[in-house]
Amino acid sequence: MELKRFKQLTKQYTVKPVFAEVLFSQEYDEYVDAFHNNQECRDWELKRRIKAAGINYKNYCCIAMAYYLIEDKVSKNNSEINYDSIMRHTHGRKEFGIPIHDGGSSYIRINYCPWCGVQLPVSL
Ligand SMILES: [Zn+2]
Repeated sequence: MELKRFKQLTKQYTVKPVFAEVLFSQEYDEYVDAFHNNQECRDWELKRRIKAAGINYKNYCCIAMAYYLIEDKVSKNNSEINYDSIMRHTHGRKEFGIPIHDGGSSYIRINYCPWCGVQLPVSL
């Protein structure tokens, strides 16, 4: 699927409600397939979601890291455990880690990005 078509369909499919006849259409299947298998479409969509969350993806090693930090940002404004958060970035210590969902703020620090493999900054 061309990126231009993907963008058009995103406008169409991100307006709720999306009805069942749409979800079971061939066009919707192609749209979902493009999101999962077309790197250009996927990157565009992730950048859109990252930007909507108020995050600048250019501050991180890759789009995937920035995308998976959206839930970390949501968690910081909420006292409930966010089980959707799978990556944490501590701005003070400049560390990245896998959150431990025990109600506290602990995490397992990681040294390399799980998506692009780049070595992450060493903690201060
Ligand atoms: Zn990365």
